[in-house]
Amino acid sequence: MSRFHIDDSARWPLGRFGALAGVPGVAHAVTTRAGPHFGPDARAAPTARAAAAVAAELGLAGAAWVKQVHGGTVLRAREPGIAGEADALVCDTPGLAVLGRSADCPLVLLAGLRADGTPAVGVAHASWRSTVRRITVAAVERMRDELGVDPATISAGIGPSAGPCCYEVGPEVRDEALARLGGGGSRFFAPAGDRWHLDLWAANLAQLAAAGVPESRVCACRICTICRGERFWSWRVQREAAGRFAAVIGLVAP
Ligand SMILES: [Zn+2]
Repeated sequence: MSRFHIDDSARWPLGRFGALAGVPGVAHAVTTRAGPHFGPDARAAPTARAAAAVAAELGLAGAAWVKQVHGGTVLRAREPGIAGEADALVCDTPGLAVLGRSADCPLVLLAGLRADGTPAVGVAHASWRSTVRRITVAAVERMRDELGVDPATISAGIGPSAGPCCYEVGPEVRDEALARLGGGGSRFFAPAGDRWHLDLWAANLAQLAAAGVPESRVCACRICTICRGERFWSWRVQREAAGRFAAVIGLVAP
């Protein structure tokens, strides 16, 4: 199984992580600009329609999502629909998926096992603001503490996003990152004139490692939505015309 590939045989092209494909009882996908069409508004009808459609395509009864607010809050999903305002969701309900929506922000998919062998899943919307608030660590810890998942069993995929090649930020972003992450946060920034390029993939890979997820189970697909955006939406490229793609992961009902 390849690290990340796009399956063109489904109803829409769907990205799949090799690292997640082997987790028993778990289905996942990353959607593309081909659809289904998630709008920018979490509470609007297109998002609900697209969430239901992608869940059905994965053989699941429904999906839950959040209004993403660039914070550090994790919620637990128990039923389909909008679960509240947060930037990560975890779930152990059979037949239910959780999904994140993006145009440039990394989405981190998580799947792990409890002591009885049953799976649980999670998704994090790792925008720069959520990344410096350690949203990926918080999602893994919520799966561990509330759902009983051993982080050593977790497999993870980091979806397409603005990459270190293109993701230019101002000094205020680096200042906040260093204030929240400590001096070690500087390694995720490379100088670009009087601004910086931020590597959100490296920052979230580091968070997965810090949370106890084995490196061998983690894949960052390393597709930049800005310079390789033919398949994925980019806020920085399309601005107001940008739609949203989704990363979705759920538990197949036994
Ligand atoms: Zn790029």
